[in-house]
Order: sequence, then structure tokens, then C-alpha cells
Amino acid sequence: MKFEDLGLVEPILRAVFREGYETATPIQAKAIPLVTEGRDLIGCAQTGTGKTAAFALPTLQRLRDLNAKSPKPSGNGQHKKKKKRRKIRALVLSPTRELATQIHDSFAAYGRFTGFRQTVVYGGVSQGRQVRALQKGVDTLVATPGRLLDLMGQGYIDLSNIEILILDEADRMLDMGFIHDLRQIVKNAPAERQTLMFSATMPRQIRELANQWLTDPAHVQVAPAAAPAEKVEQSVYFVEPKQKPMLLARFLHEVPSSRTLVFARTKHGADKIVRRLKRDGIRADAIHGNKSQAARQRVLDNFKADKLPVLIATDIAARGLDVDDISHVINYDMPHDAETYVHRIGRTARAGAEGVAVSFCGREEHPKLRSIEQLIRRAITVEKKPDFIRAAEASPNNAPSATKGKKPSGRKYRPSRKYHSKSKSKGSSRGAPGSAAGPRGNGSKRRRRVSAR
Ligand code: AMP
Repeated sequence: MKFEDLGLVEPILRAVFREGYETATPIQAKAIPLVTEGRDLIGCAQTGTGKTAAFALPTLQRLRDLNAKSPKPSGNGQHKKKKKRRKIRALVLSPTRELATQIHDSFAAYGRFTGFRQTVVYGGVSQGRQVRALQKGVDTLVATPGRLLDLMGQGYIDLSNIEILILDEADRMLDMGFIHDLRQIVKNAPAERQTLMFSATMPRQIRELANQWLTDPAHVQVAPAAAPAEKVEQSVYFVEPKQKPMLLARFLHEVPSSRTLVFARTKHGADKIVRRLKRDGIRADAIHGNKSQAARQRVLDNFKADKLPVLIATDIAARGLDVDDISHVINYDMPHDAETYVHRIGRTARAGAEGVAVSFCGREEHPKLRSIEQLIRRAITVEKKPDFIRAAEASPNNAPSATKGKKPSGRKYRPSRKYHSKSKSKGSSRGAPGSAAGPRGNGSKRRRRVSAR
């Protein structure tokens, strides 16, 4: 659907075209008319579907419409000097600093011709700059819950003029333990407001909160969480934990890719992978919660600017990551649940591009693979074990400690018969690193791209 048909006003349309958007994504086509009408809305959509514009564009339009309708403020006489200061009228809550920054940037881009102002507040950095931006007055505030409450407590933020409240990635906010903060925040917002809630999944708790906080909401759903990006080519290596570092390094050296996002289970694990890859001459860096905001942003900027070909991330840090053209997603550690797998691989093959998702699955992780296959209702292609891993397995000295003294191929992965056929387990056409048929030839191109030299 065309943006012109969604009832957006000219300054917003102009900004949309300036972003290079031609047609609205499904969530935008559904949500924009409902939100501009003033409806509360529950949106079930993941990052990558265009959901930020789905709420930001109509929010900007509502701010304009409500401005036009409301009588000129007579001032409540609290602060004579600051009588004309803008009041926060739209509040967006986000689970992570990265996502908050991206949402803020989107509001700035889409609202560039509207004259509205926005700012973003999040924890992990000193508050001075954020407070100064707030003191200048903003129409839209994007915030992570903890810092918002902190600044509210200090009297820098007043929610009493909020007209639109947006909860983005609500499920992740609950996962991260923000429920009490959210209750507190919602309590401080006016009861009469428009509320939008976006969530990638809709567990019971989210539905209950929606019942409490939203009024007669419209429901909009796109790409159910169980549907992985159609164009992602998915495969799995069965490999023991001890061999994962070597497999990753070989893979990155030998398989041509542009941007690779590697998922690690823990922050410590992510740092370990970076150190290992650097020893192998591969430029890689990590983002996770232990790094300062400035350091995370620097890493992200380098990744986006093609200065860093490999980014290692934990699930939480990667949440809301808005980077296009990720050619490969590697599940170095299998995700703890099947839905997270779908989120992870959705980072590649965005906006119609093709992508590859490769998983490194240890013996202990087989049950996770099985539940992923059940969720996505298809078998994941099993890659041929690279020769160097076979050699390592054959040598008792190199055998991973967990399997020392045992037969290396003792307990085999038993795929659910429903999803696996014999032909599926042959290895994909991409070529396995280190195998006789591995892409050594075109690997040199890749090496040039990822090497530190
Ligand atoms: P989101 O799901 O909001 O994180 O958006 C994912 C990416 O899609 C971002 O890079 C947006 O800039 C981009 N995007 C959003 N809407 C459109 C659209 N209608 N056409 C093209 N790209 C879009």
C-alpha cells in the first residue's frame, strides 16, 4: 500500500519519501490508519517489520491533530519562567538503550518537517546531557524504564501531559524485569490517553497488562513469531563446544559474507569469542550489557559502516538492532528457546534480501534444535562435519574434555522424523569450511574482508 493512501499529512509524507520508503509494510498499512484515528492498539510484530514507523508516523500525526484541537494553554502557573516550555506529550518505552536510540532517531527523521522535538534517555551514562535536553522542552520522549523513573524522581520529567503512551517490545521489557517500573510509569501517566503496545510475542502476562492499560484496543498482527524469514537459508553443524571456536574462525575465513552477526549466550562468552577471533586475525567486536553505552555505540557504528565485519552479541544486546544487509547470522550458542531462534535469524534476509543462518549445535543442545524445528515446522539442513573436526574427534588428545574417554559419536541427534528426510542431511550447497569441497578458492576474498591486516 502507498503511504499517500494512509491519510498522512504532507510534512510527514515528505519525510517518509526522504527516507526512501515507497510502500508501507503490512504492519504500517494496518496500524497507521487505526492510530491516526485515535485507537489504542496492540501490535504483534518483530523488529524488521517496519514497526517503528508504524507507531512513530501516526504518533506524529496525532500530536499535530491534537495540537490543532486543544485550546491554547492558559498555563498552570507552576513555573512562570518556563511557561512556554514544551510538555512531553508522547512517551515511548523501550527495553534497551540501543532500541531507544533507534526509535529516537526514527522520530527525528520522520518528524523533521513537523517542528516537533524529541529526546532519548537511558541508563548507563551520566544524566547531564539528557537533563539539559529535557530542560529545553520536548514533545516526544523515548526512554528506558529505569532511567525514566530516576529522572521523574528527581523532578526532571513530568508525565501529566502524556497523550500517547507507547510500549515497544513489551515482552522483552517483562523478560528484563521491568514490570514494576512499567506499572509505576503507567500510574503516573494520565488515565485518559492513547496507548499502543508492541510485542514480538503475546504471552498471557502481556495480554493481561494490555487489558489493564489499553481501552478497546485494535489488534494488529504481522508475521507470527513462528514464521522465520522465508528467504533465510538455515543449516546446522553438529559440533562439540570445544570445537566451536575453531569452526567459527574457519567459517568466517572461508565463507564469503558481508556482515555477520554471531549470537553468544553470555557476555563473558561473547568476549571470549572476540579474543579468539582476533587471535585468528579476524576483525570482530562484541556488544553486551557490560560495555558502556559509548563503547556499544562505537561498535555498532563500525558494524554499520562496514568497518567491522563480525559482530558478536547477546540476545538482549541485539534486541532492536537495526542493521540492514546482515548476510549471515551464526548461532554460536543455540538460543535458550525456539522463539529466540526466530528472532535471531530474522536479522538477516530483511527487506526481501537473502540471508544465511548457521547454528553450531553441541550434543547437549540437541533438544533445543528439536524444539526449533517443531516451532518452524521444517527441518534444518545438517551440514557435513568439516574435516578438521573429524580429525579432532579422531584424535583422543584433541577430543573435547566432555567427551574424553567416550566414543565421540555416542549419542546421536535424532531428528524428529516428521521434519527430516535423508536428503536433508547431506550438507548444503554453500560448502563446509575445512571440508575437501570447502570454498578455499573464493575464501581469499573473504579473508581480505575480515582480516585485521
Ligand atoms: P523496524 O522494524 O522498525 O526496526 O524497521 C526495520 C527497517 O526497515 C528500518 O531500517 C527501517 O528504516 C526500514 N523501513 C521501515 N519502513 C519501511 C518502508 N515502508 N519501506 C522501506 N524500509 C522501511
